[in-house]
Amino acid sequence: MHRIAIYGKGGIGKSVIATALTAHYAQQGQSVLHVGCDPKGDSAPRLLEGGGTMETVLDMLSRNPNTASAQGVLHTGRHGIVCCEAGGPEPGLGCGGRGVAKTLEFLDEMEVISDGDQDVVVFDVLGDVVCGGFAAPLRRGFAEQILIVVSEEPMALFAANNISKAVKTYSRNGVFLGGFIANLKSEGADRDLINRFAEALSTRVLAFIPRDPEVQLAERRRLTIVESAPESPAAKAIMALAEDIVGADAEAAPLPTPLSDEEFFEFIKE
Ligand code: ADP
Ligand code: MG
Repeated sequence: MHRIAIYGKGGIGKSVIATALTAHYAQQGQSVLHVGCDPKGDSAPRLLEGGGTMETVLDMLSRNPNTASAQGVLHTGRHGIVCCEAGGPEPGLGCGGRGVAKTLEFLDEMEVISDGDQDVVVFDVLGDVVCGGFAAPLRRGFAEQILIVVSEEPMALFAANNISKAVKTYSRNGVFLGGFIANLKSEGADRDLINRFAEALSTRVLAFIPRDPEVQLAERRRLTIVESAPESPAAKAIMALAEDIVGADAEAAPLPTPLSDEEFFEFIKE
């Protein structure tokens, strides 16, 4: 069983990549559970037939915690993917991270995630702030392999540095850093900077995904890029990445060596 969490800054491309990985594994005949852990709540719905919306764990728990059931929040998407979305608090009220923690507690209680039931579990997690809530997939040992989506932009790397700190903290739970996924913002992006940054953190860049107009066309069709345009450069990069992820050796992954904030800003200086 592969338990993967995709972390990264908001808007970096986590859901594009996480849903494409899920769709790819499912198309290969694997049973996949996809858990959206971003208060934005727009990850798992991308895997439903025709798009659409779904009842989130927080919606269900806030309606009536006593009647909450696993069936109420597990939805079947395309290719038999089982989807679930944490959901978010009312804007201006409550805490997004707390919703993620609550969701994982609920899935745990309902024994939703278990060997034999799924071949692959994919968590799509917001990583701007790695507070207790957003760290829940690491803390409770839900996810094992952590992948961080970055771009060439300094603040995307800053978020990756912070996420690496959390991965290091929770490594005692068997969590390991699989590497970075570079989702490039521009054609001429400085790939060397991303490679050097990965090296500084004792990790590696698993894939460079190019900026690809097919990604947005796929979104408009309410499909993932691997379904909508499997021959496109972005889809090919994601499918190769999918193989690398399942082939990863947890034992061989070094502990991340995140930088202090001071070291980070020194690093990104020209
Ligand atoms: P996140 O889940 O990290 O918040 P999303 O996956 O929703 O971010 O992506 C944010 C936006 O960036 C989307 O609207 C998507 O179309 C666009 N995007 C992401 N990756 C690419 C890419 N490789 N090429 C073109 N557009 C992309
Ligand atoms: Mg997202």
